[in-house]
Amino acid sequence: MLNRNRNIANLASGYLFPEISKRRAAYAKAHPDARIISLGIGNTTEPLTPRVVAGLRAEVDRLGTREGYSGYGDETGTTRLREAIARVLYGGIVASDEVFVSDGAKCDIGRLQYLFGPETKVAVQDPAYPVYVDGSVMVGAAGAVPPGGTGYAGIVYMPCTAENGFFPDLALIPANSLVYFCSPNNPTGAVATREQLTRLVSVARERGSVIVYDSAYSAYIRDPALPRSIFDIPGARECAVEVSSFSKPIGFTGVRLGWTVVPKELRFADGTPVIQDWTRLMTTIFNGASNIAQAGGLASLDEAGLAETRALTDFYLENAAIIREALGGANFRAAGVEVYGGDNAPYIWARFPGKKSWEVFDSILDTCRVVCTPGAGFGPAGESFIRFSAFGHRDQVVEACKRLASLAL
Ligand code: PLP
Repeated sequence: MLNRNRNIANLASGYLFPEISKRRAAYAKAHPDARIISLGIGNTTEPLTPRVVAGLRAEVDRLGTREGYSGYGDETGTTRLREAIARVLYGGIVASDEVFVSDGAKCDIGRLQYLFGPETKVAVQDPAYPVYVDGSVMVGAAGAVPPGGTGYAGIVYMPCTAENGFFPDLALIPANSLVYFCSPNNPTGAVATREQLTRLVSVARERGSVIVYDSAYSAYIRDPALPRSIFDIPGARECAVEVSSFSKPIGFTGVRLGWTVVPKELRFADGTPVIQDWTRLMTTIFNGASNIAQAGGLASLDEAGLAETRALTDFYLENAAIIREALGGANFRAAGVEVYGGDNAPYIWARFPGKKSWEVFDSILDTCRVVCTPGAGFGPAGESFIRFSAFGHRDQVVEACKRLASLAL
């Protein structure tokens, strides 16, 4: 028999969301009449918008004709979509041949870890989107969790707390490391300022490290002073790649479409351009994003599509404002609950002083029949926090907030 892959075996306990589902299912079994509402998983809920649907339909129709049919496409994406992303979303600060279209940011994060390999040290914001850590563990870059420990031996956790404004101490970044950085942040909802990102870029360059910048939520930034891309920062082209996604701006969580930008200036220690190896990797183990999904993504980038994206993301931000208001209620204030995020991001990050995240999760489920996400699941510094997601139908969000008002803390 084959030996189990040691790196997969090193993965600590289950992924966060299966554990939430398990607890939710157990509650539903014990209370079959309970109408549970989820403010938990960051999955989009609102329908695709008309312009995007028209783009998808037109491509399906085209594929249904002898003249229009096409099979495999370019593994790196259609030229039209790559050009539109570079022009519309980056205002031309990246070139279209630096944009690699994919089946989503999560998949690209996994492939990037594979690109940099098991020898590369990894630093993550703590708390963080779990895929950065788990993807690193899977390729053998993170080692194991020491007995009784709370984090992997090979990962540098950079705490992002209320005290440091959810921006890490950059002195923690190891030399020659891969630094995962997400803004707007999942789960904290914090958005890094231009000044903070300028410091991040400067430290990464000084230490020979590479930033993997995750901008999956950039469409939620409303404050024009906040950068939407790491490439807005001078010097980033020599030290960063950016992964991003159509999932949260246009509801493509199920349709699947994302992209990664790899600038030509970024090089490995031996001088090889990173873009060369990324192209090789993508054209070898990836066969291109769905042509239908790409047509939908392209439709979202014209004038009508952009207006719809704005309206859709505004809708979720209004949900966020409703949740923030509920968390400012008398019961929460009396318990000293602190509320962060939710104004340029679809996540609200709330601290429950003196309580454990899973304990708060269970009591919100038990008393309010509302599912949220325990902050501890995102890393050691997430303990005592709960993440509330603004992705939900309005009536459900309003009802969940009404129930939260009865939570005894
Ligand atoms: N990056 C972050 C920070 C996320 O929160 C998510 C999804 O929740 C993703 C990436 C996944 O994006 P995609 O759907 O494009 O794989």
